[in-house]
Amino acid sequence: MNNTIAILSYNCYNASVILFYLRIVLENAKVKVLVMIRKGMKLYSILFGVCPKCHQESMYQNKNPYVLSEVIKMRETCSHCKTKYQIEPSFFYGSMYVSYAVGIAFAVAAFIISYNILGFSLTIAFIAIVVTLIAFMPVIMRLSRNIWINLFMSYDKELVKKSTTELKQH
Ligand SMILES: [Zn+2]
Repeated sequence: MNNTIAILSYNCYNASVILFYLRIVLENAKVKVLVMIRKGMKLYSILFGVCPKCHQESMYQNKNPYVLSEVIKMRETCSHCKTKYQIEPSFFYGSMYVSYAVGIAFAVAAFIISYNILGFSLTIAFIAIVVTLIAFMPVIMRLSRNIWINLFMSYDKELVKKSTTELKQH
């Protein structure tokens, strides 16, 4: 009896030590990623869905992609630099081509994680792909729009300077 308690507490201690170090590793990784992805990089606009030209505010009316009624509701223009997001009518239809590629990337990731890393059967790996694609659909839709608009527009330092000085004057 005493033995089992000793073993149990020893295991709990081990688990807590592992969790402690895991948290440090993860937090360091998060900081590193955040340091690497800065305003001014295309990746910043793509990942956070901010204005492709000034990177100052979200293109979307609701930042959270999981408010499903507002997944693709975008502002018309950027309030900082006045960039019009919809360059031409139905501009964002083109993002559908991008969403095929993004969807495939998510499917491949789901397959590698469930089949190769976690060692599940092929059937479960395919179920994992379907579940992943459904669960990440809002993210995939936004990522494709962000990638699509970033193909046509780039970060513009001068525009950022101009718009921030204008904002200060008002
Ligand atoms: Zn802007």
